[in-house]
Amino acid sequence: MAELRPPIESGAPDPMPYMHPVMVKNYGKWSFHSHPKPGVLYHRAESGDEIWTVKAGTQRQMDHYTIRELADIADQYGDGFVRFTARSNIEYMVADGSKVEPLIKALNDKGYPIGGTANSVSMIAHTQGWLHCDIPGTDASGVVKALMDELYDDFVKCEMPNRVKMSTSCCEINCGGQADIAIIVQHTKPPKINHDLVANVCERPSVVARCPVAAIRPALVNGKPSLEVDEKKCIC
Ligand code: SF4
Ligand code: SF4
Repeated sequence: MAELRPPIESGAPDPMPYMHPVMVKNYGKWSFHSHPKPGVLYHRAESGDEIWTVKAGTQRQMDHYTIRELADIADQYGDGFVRFTARSNIEYMVADGSKVEPLIKALNDKGYPIGGTANSVSMIAHTQGWLHCDIPGTDASGVVKALMDELYDDFVKCEMPNRVKMSTSCCEINCGGQADIAIIVQHTKPPKINHDLVANVCERPSVVARCPVAAIRPALVNGKPSLEVDEKKCIC
């Protein structure tokens, strides 16, 4: 039998080079962990080595100025090692417990809340929205920002009956939004068309093709090419 070609590894990169040295050294050999306060985790290894993790919330979609700011805080107040969680929280690992409080203060001073652990409402995951997807009529990320502003206290405290994971998505495909509470963000009325703008800015065939129930049709309005919506067909 011919020799099988080995698979090409194109998934997540090897995390070891980026991991805190204490975590690399004690990989798979942890004997104890606790939760000293909201947003802080403590782990002790069989070797006696210790590590603290400080979790901060971010605005999820970040520009490079924000990422540089977060990285500078890691260099100045942490050990220079961070990881982003699936919900875009950032976690700083430090091997010296005396660094925890100055690190928390530095993050708070820049506006990053500390929390998201244990019985808190962790950061809301959202689907791609307008950043990458070409079908959302709404964006999930802006809604997440507004929701987390409301849920700020539930992120920084751990007073829920259990862990709470939430998500938002901008259509029922819900491409990334598995959670305890999943919110689908949608318009509830058929779209209104600004006929003055359509001819100049809209690629009409793409818009027509995008509607799953063929409710959008090309139309001539006031002698200009535009679109019309059959509101009886529209599923919103
Ligand atoms: S939830 Fe739907 S509209 Fe939103 S990014 Fe995913 S597939 Fe696109
Ligand atoms: S059903 Fe069609 S017309 Fe209605 S909101 Fe969805 S894409 Fe737009």
